[in-house]
Amino acid sequence: MNAMGLLPILCSVALLLGLLLYLGHPLLTGGRAGAASGQTRQLFERKEQLLGEIVELELDRELGKVSAEDFQRFFAELEAETLAIIGELDRLNGAGSYQLERRIEEEVSALRQKTAVPRCRGCGTLRREGDLFCPQCGASLVESS
Ligand SMILES: [Zn+2]
Repeated sequence: MNAMGLLPILCSVALLLGLLLYLGHPLLTGGRAGAASGQTRQLFERKEQLLGEIVELELDRELGKVSAEDFQRFFAELEAETLAIIGELDRLNGAGSYQLERRIEEEVSALRQKTAVPRCRGCGTLRREGDLFCPQCGASLVESS
């Protein structure tokens, strides 16, 4: 695993998560003051972290760093823990947990869209913002239409 190659991805995921936190999440801003808020915040941060790991895992799969088999296993683990945390957050906030599955899907797909990275049409390599040519195959990355 090439740690340097992962760094830009990790940075952008971290940035996105920070953004989400600052934009204000209902679980955070709507939380009650008092003893529960510290715990809620911790759970919330852990949840964001897990969602980030899920996105990262998907990127790894797309980059071919993780086999489909490993992906399924890791994803299931991350999802299970995320669900548990969302359930705990709901409990602390007094909300029902009947929509857990739907909520995690929404959260993950929202994150997925935000982290959608343009890639080279020729070889599928992730491109960085501002790249005019694919670092892998040299194809032009400028949209022609
Ligand atoms: Zn390319």
